[in-house]
Amino acid sequence: MTLSDGSKRPDVWDVLIVGGGPAGASAALYAARSKLMTLVVDKGIASGALGMAQRISNYPGVNEELPGEELIGRMREQARAVGARFEQDKVIAVSLDGNGDTKRVRGTRGAYEARSLILATGALGRSHTVPGEERLLGRGVSYCATCDGFFFTDRDVVVAGNSEEAAEEALFLTRYAAHVFLLSPTPELRVPDVLQRRVRENPAIELRSEHRLLEVVGDNDVAAVRVAAPEGEMEQPVAGVFIYAQGNRPVTDYLTGQLETTDSGCLSVDEFFQTNIPGVFAAGDVLCKHFKQIVIASAEGAMAAMAAERFLSGRETLRPDWAK
Ligand SMILES: Cc1cc2nc3c(=O)[nH]c(=O)nc-3n(C[C@H](O)[C@H](O)[C@H](O)COP(=O)(O)OP(=O)(O)OC[C@H]3O[C@@H](n4cnc5c(N)ncnc54)[C@H](O)[C@@H]3O)c2cc1C
Repeated sequence: MTLSDGSKRPDVWDVLIVGGGPAGASAALYAARSKLMTLVVDKGIASGALGMAQRISNYPGVNEELPGEELIGRMREQARAVGARFEQDKVIAVSLDGNGDTKRVRGTRGAYEARSLILATGALGRSHTVPGEERLLGRGVSYCATCDGFFFTDRDVVVAGNSEEAAEEALFLTRYAAHVFLLSPTPELRVPDVLQRRVRENPAIELRSEHRLLEVVGDNDVAAVRVAAPEGEMEQPVAGVFIYAQGNRPVTDYLTGQLETTDSGCLSVDEFFQTNIPGVFAAGDVLCKHFKQIVIASAEGAMAAMAAERFLSGRETLRPDWAK
């Protein structure tokens, strides 16, 4: 089988890491240095908390002030240099008790299988929905253009959000939809310049800045959206609404309740960052620790990778990275 860059890939990875922020990239560095076949599946470098941070000046050993995107780029380069592979894809489902003792992961672009998983998807998940969203989910409301875009062939749709994911999904939807209204709650999209340009130059996309989604309107199917705009509230007739808003809840939707959580919905892990399913680990902001910092997410990613290595080798003890 091949990855999107055309390179060959194994059928079963030793370690598959979902999320390539500081937790995922550090886990990849440690896992790959232990000679484990390591794949990171990440939906986009600018979609995570570090990717969207403007300036970082408190990461130990990095004296200069860096955009978050550059710091995470450096972390990924370091992991790549020792053999870790990165694939851009959004994970939408996992199967944790599947075939034998492997775990299966499904993205919008491919399917993956691994002997151990590290979940590092951060905490930019949404905490609330807008009126009409849940009622009309699957009846015009969607969170996945690759999955549902086809159903809106020659129809008008709205994409709500200002992230890299929202911009990419809006571009993807132009393959099908007649017209895509991209509603950004902020004056500018929070995406790299090159993506910003692709959005602005696409004649099928109408970018509406400072437009916030208030309600999804419709009886049996989506008929329109109600929006707060600088000039006041307005209604836009559309057949589909793709929502990519961000909040500050742990991103665990793709797990569909397969793992134990605390009362507040955070993944439960033991002292080795292992969840209630053996071989499935979690690290970084997705654990909703009080201190959301790069250095802490990175450290947890490293620990989760060492614990995954211990799990795969069947040893009782952890082996530090330098004890070769
Ligand atoms: C604006 C801002 C400024 C900050 N400034 C600082 C600072 O100065 N110093 C500091 O120490 N900390 C700072 N932080 C906090 C720090 O960025 C986070 O604590 C840290 O990035 C958490 O790392 P993580 O790897 O757990 O999650 P993230 O960095 O959020 O990475 C999660 C990754 O998972 C990916 N992902 C999510 N869902 C999926 C999916 N379904 N499929 C595939 N991939 C997925 C995302 O694309 C992302 O790359 C800041 C945060 C923000 C938002």
